[in-house]
Amino acid sequence: MRSKPSILHLDLDAFFAAVEQRDKPSLRGKPVIVGGLGPRGVVSTASYEARAFGVRSAMRMAEARARCPHAAYLSGRFAAYRMTSRAVMAALRELSPLVEPVSFDEAYVDLAAGDLGDLSTTTAVEHIADAIRARTFEVSGGLTASVGAGTSKLIAKIASDLRKPDGRLVVAAGTEAEFLHPMPVSRIPGVGPATGDRLRRIGVHTVGELARVGVSELVAALGQAHGQALARLAQAEDDRPVVAERESKSISVEDTFDHDIADPRLLQMIVDRLASRVCERLARERLSGRTVTVKIRLFDFSTHTRSTTLAGPTDDVRVVTRLARQLLTDVDTSAGARLLGVGVSGLADWVQDDLFTSVVDDADNDAGAPGELAIGGTPENLVSGTPDAAPRLWSPGADVVHTTYGQGWVWGAGRGRVTVRFETSSSGPGPVRTFAGDDPDLAAYTPLTWKDPS
Ligand SMILES: [Mg+2]
Repeated sequence: MRSKPSILHLDLDAFFAAVEQRDKPSLRGKPVIVGGLGPRGVVSTASYEARAFGVRSAMRMAEARARCPHAAYLSGRFAAYRMTSRAVMAALRELSPLVEPVSFDEAYVDLAAGDLGDLSTTTAVEHIADAIRARTFEVSGGLTASVGAGTSKLIAKIASDLRKPDGRLVVAAGTEAEFLHPMPVSRIPGVGPATGDRLRRIGVHTVGELARVGVSELVAALGQAHGQALARLAQAEDDRPVVAERESKSISVEDTFDHDIADPRLLQMIVDRLASRVCERLARERLSGRTVTVKIRLFDFSTHTRSTTLAGPTDDVRVVTRLARQLLTDVDTSAGARLLGVGVSGLADWVQDDLFTSVVDDADNDAGAPGELAIGGTPENLVSGTPDAAPRLWSPGADVVHTTYGQGWVWGAGRGRVTVRFETSSSGPGPVRTFAGDDPDLAAYTPLTWKDPS
């Protein structure tokens, strides 16, 4: 147990649904449900607007539809979630090298491993937690997170859960028992309905009651491993360390100049050359990466880095060059730069893809049940429930691009037609148009970033 509340837990609020609302302005403030839309589908995430109707994660989709028929039902966009998650995790790593992602939308940070000064008071840690929440909001394009901190993972996790959504709680060292004991046992991570039932049968409802039960009685009720683990957690005994993911490999090159360079065309040419050198090295070492970083040292020796994360890994010199040029324009170099660098890093594949696979599989199963209108009402020119003649799959919520109308997303599809709403994270709510399902002007699309390219 630590003597300072130096373990922090960050949990993005209603993550998948929040990403959808970020990228689909017409859905902001409305109930949004992401998950498997097929007959056996379950809810992966419901927006807070949908939770008001009693919709919860892991609920059968059929029940969700009965409770909240007017919600937007989306099959989920893996690439957008991963891209956003990586941006948030990268921001956490700016703070401390010891970051343990536990899923797309959750991570522990060991603040003691960072260079963060005094962590002994709750006020100091509260300032750090608020800075993390602000930074998360910034790098994710406007997503909120709940943050908890304490002397152990257990306390940090429970604290962030308690302040959902968009809140923060730091539990002072020495107050753990006082904090935990009034809570229902179900607050302890890992105590599900089955364990809760068994504990109720031996008269245990709160963590305080749990703490007073002997280990042997808990082992008898729950089994050796679970009983012992729970007995320790009830005493707030938790010394699990924060374990960082394996180090991600990165390749970067940089050039220092004899004199400061302010000419934007010259700087761009240098960035282009650095990007090609990085890509040559990537190719030689058979690597690819998802994050492109530009480093700029200005005339006054201040050093600035900017990075952007792609949905998928790349070693394509055109992609790296384009992103590096964009990143260069993020920094004011008008007074002169004395160093430029370009790097590509491949983050470790910590993401538990298989947690999401069931949802993806369900979305795939929807190929057998097209004709379903996922969003809102039924446009006049669409009829629900008729098998699709065209084999092309337009899953509700998927990103598409039209040669004339630009970027949009699949609002609904059926009977050989697809309806698209043309809007992006940075547009206002956009118009809806319907096309033939095999319209050659319409294509599936994976955005490289949620910001519109400038
Ligand atoms: Mg979350």
